[in-house]
Amino acid sequence: MTSIEIAFVIAFSLCFGSFANVCIYRLPVDKSMFTPSECMHCNKPIPFYLNIPLFGFFILRGKSACCQKSLSLQYPIVEALAGVGALYLGLIYGVNIESVLLFFFYLSLVIIFFTDLNEYIIPNIITYSLSIAGLLISYFSYSVFNLSLLESLLGGIISGGVLWLTSKIFILIRKKEGMGMGDVKMISMIGFWMGLENTFLVLIASSLLGSIVGIGLILMKKMERSQYIPFGTFLSIGAVLVWLIKIYYLPSIFVL
Ligand SMILES: [Zn+2]
Repeated sequence: MTSIEIAFVIAFSLCFGSFANVCIYRLPVDKSMFTPSECMHCNKPIPFYLNIPLFGFFILRGKSACCQKSLSLQYPIVEALAGVGALYLGLIYGVNIESVLLFFFYLSLVIIFFTDLNEYIIPNIITYSLSIAGLLISYFSYSVFNLSLLESLLGGIISGGVLWLTSKIFILIRKKEGMGMGDVKMISMIGFWMGLENTFLVLIASSLLGSIVGIGLILMKKMERSQYIPFGTFLSIGAVLVWLIKIYYLPSIFVL
């Protein structure tokens, strides 16, 4: 990447990282996305010069300017994740429309990681719009996973269908809900973007990871056995992991 491209990627991704923070805090509580930013403690509006992504947090040393209460570390973490992800995509695929589109898929995974972790919510507006986007991208051949429209369709429908069926069987046997519809919609979304084979790997990776972390937390008495595991959080990690592993270790084995 040239230095101009790097500057563009950083500015672009930090702005959208900041937008991702707005999504994470407002989508689960149905708050308008388009009202100005306000302090999370005293609801005073935040002036634009303190609202600069990443830097604002450090200028303020992690405390709000209005009431001096500490700001959540989640803000700079989300912005940094957006920045690092975008730079990485730029390095791997170059600065082009494919990587910009993939960046929005990645950012949605980051958003769901936090909304599911904090509130057990996977916003429909994210899964629905990204599912449609995944299909369109395959149709117009902008998919870095090289999916045709049919592969994208099958990926979303079959993986979502299998998970939906599993959740219904679970309810029949255990008489309680094991998996929410949000998880089903999310796995479909991943299927539309990454195809059936990748999504199958994502499912295995996230279930393993979720079980290990869940069992670990129960053993450490940090979690009750009856507590839900935010599966969407692990699906997000799984999707990024599978994508990374395939880039480096499995270039040809799993090509659909
Ligand atoms: Zn305040």
